[in-house]
Amino acid sequence: MHNLILAIRAFLTQDVKSENETKYLAVLLRVLSILSAFYMILASFHLIFISYYLFGTIAILFIAAYFAIFIETYANNTRSSLLIYNITSVSVAVILPLATGNDKNFQWVFLLVGLVSFFGIRSEFSKKLRNMALITLAFVCINILPTIFGPYKSGPKSLNIIFNSFTALYYGLSISIIAFCYYKKYNASEEKLYNYNQKLLQMATIDTLTELANRRSMTDYLLQLAFVKNKKGDVFCIAIADLDFFKKINDIYGHYAGDYILQEVSKIFKETMNGRGKVARWGGEEFLFCFDDLSIKQSYKILNKMREDISNTHFEYEGNDIHVTLTIGLEEYYHVTGVEGTISKADKKLYEGKEKGRNIVVM
Ligand code: GH3
Ligand code: MG
Ligand code: MG
Repeated sequence: MHNLILAIRAFLTQDVKSENETKYLAVLLRVLSILSAFYMILASFHLIFISYYLFGTIAILFIAAYFAIFIETYANNTRSSLLIYNITSVSVAVILPLATGNDKNFQWVFLLVGLVSFFGIRSEFSKKLRNMALITLAFVCINILPTIFGPYKSGPKSLNIIFNSFTALYYGLSISIIAFCYYKKYNASEEKLYNYNQKLLQMATIDTLTELANRRSMTDYLLQLAFVKNKKGDVFCIAIADLDFFKKINDIYGHYAGDYILQEVSKIFKETMNGRGKVARWGGEEFLFCFDDLSIKQSYKILNKMREDISNTHFEYEGNDIHVTLTIGLEEYYHVTGVEGTISKADKKLYEGKEKGRNIVVM
C-alpha cells in the first residue's frame, strides 16, 4: 500500500518536459483535473437522475476534457494544459448554472480558475490581476443570470444533500490543493535563492584554489578588527608571507605542481592559525596572516616554527620530491599606522628578508 502511494505520488509529481518551466503548475493541474473529473462524474449522474439529460451528457464531455488536461501535462507544455483547464472550467461555471440554477453551485468553479490563473507562468502580475477582475465580474453575472431564467428542477432532497456535500468537498479540496502548491512553489524558490546566495557569498569570499579566505574577505576582516581594536587601544599583528623562488617550481615541475604546493602550504597555514586569527591568499603566491590577540613576539614564534616545518617538508607530486621555503615580514598594527600602513610595513620587511637570503621571518 505504501509503495502504491509512493508510485502515485512520483507519477503525479513527475517533472515537465520543457526545461524553462517549473513543475508546480503541471502538478497542480494534474491533481485538479482528476478531482474535477470525479466531480463531473457525480454531476452527470445527478443531472441525469433529475432528468437533465442534455446537461448530464455535457457533463460527460467535461469529464473527457479534464482527462485531456491530465494527459496534456505529460505530453506537451503546461501552457496548453492551463488553457484547456481555463476553457473547460469556465464552460462548467457558465453552462451548468444557466441550465440548472445556482443552487447546484457549479458557478463557484469560476473562482478556482481565478486562483489557478495566479499560478500561470511568464505572465505579468498586472495581467493576472486583470484576469482575476474579469473572473470576479463574470462570477457576479453568473450568480445573477440564472435567477432570470428558470424554474429549475431540484430533485429529491436527500440526493441534493449528498450532491451538495460532495460539491463542498470538491471546492474545499481544490482550494487546499491550490494553497499547498503555492506554498511548495514559494518554499522551493526561497530555498533555491538561499542556496544560490550562499554559493555567491562563498565565491565572493573564498579563494577557489586554496580554499583560504580571499583578499577582499581579509580586507573586510582587518578593517573590522582595526575598528574594534582602535576603541580599546589594543594592537594586533599582520604578516605577509611569500613563497621563495616559486617561479622555478612552476618551471621545473609544471604549473599543476605549483598549484598543488599552494594547496598544501595553505593547509599548513590553516592548521597554524588554529583559531588565533585569520589567513588569506593575498595574491599569487603571497599570503596574509592576522593574529588577533598575540604580541609580535608570540606571532614571531608561531610563524618561525611554521617556516621551519615547511622548509623541512618534502611535498610529493607525481613522483617528484618538491622542496619549498617562504619568507615572512611581520608587523604590529597601531592605530596611527592604520591597516594599509601596517601591511606596507610588513611588505617592506618581507623584501628585507628576500634580500637577506630568504627562508626567514623578519620582525
Ligand atoms: P621570490 O623568491 O623572489 O618571491 O621568487 P618567485 O619566483 O617566487 O617570485 P616571482 O614573483 O617572480 O614569481 C611568482 C610566481 O608565482 C610567478 C607565477 O607564475 C606564480 N604563480 C602565481 N600564482 C600562481 C598560481 O595560482 N599557480 C601557480 N602554479 N603559480 C602561480
Ligand atoms: Mg615568491
Ligand atoms: Mg610574489
